[in-house]
Amino acid sequence: MLESYLMNRYRRKFVELFGLSCLSVILLPCNLLYSATKKIINPDLTEEQKKIMFEESTERPFSSSLNNEKRKGFFHCANCGAKLFASNAKFDSGTGWPSFTESLPGAFKTKIDYSFGMKRVEYHCAKCGAHHGHIFEDGSTATQKRFCSNGLCLIFKPDN
Ligand SMILES: [Zn+2]
Repeated sequence: MLESYLMNRYRRKFVELFGLSCLSVILLPCNLLYSATKKIINPDLTEEQKKIMFEESTERPFSSSLNNEKRKGFFHCANCGAKLFASNAKFDSGTGWPSFTESLPGAFKTKIDYSFGMKRVEYHCAKCGAHHGHIFEDGSTATQKRFCSNGLCLIFKPDN
């Protein structure tokens, strides 16, 4: 009786461990693939920009001049120049980071980020792989989405 109880416990433990290792085998190549597609294109990026775009650091809140940008135009990737957001998707979230309700179609790819003990959706430029920010589902907007962007990763080009 005790023996079968122990066997069951061991079996369950084994299944758990086996499941975990399967998961890491699946996740590992994804992360490698992701890092392999990241590349610095703009040679003028500052150290701070590189830290955010390639090491997923975050700029200080309320530090970006783009928080107050209200002109019509488009926001481009500071690394590769890809068009990412239209100005009409920008809204004031009060968080201190430039925020958008949606991106231009196909502008970003996403991955799940488990850093700091949180499960968040990270988004990066589909063209160059540079990290831009996280998407939250708490937007008080029509899309319910809040693209929380690092202003240092963006270049705003106003319409003429
Ligand atoms: Zn890019």
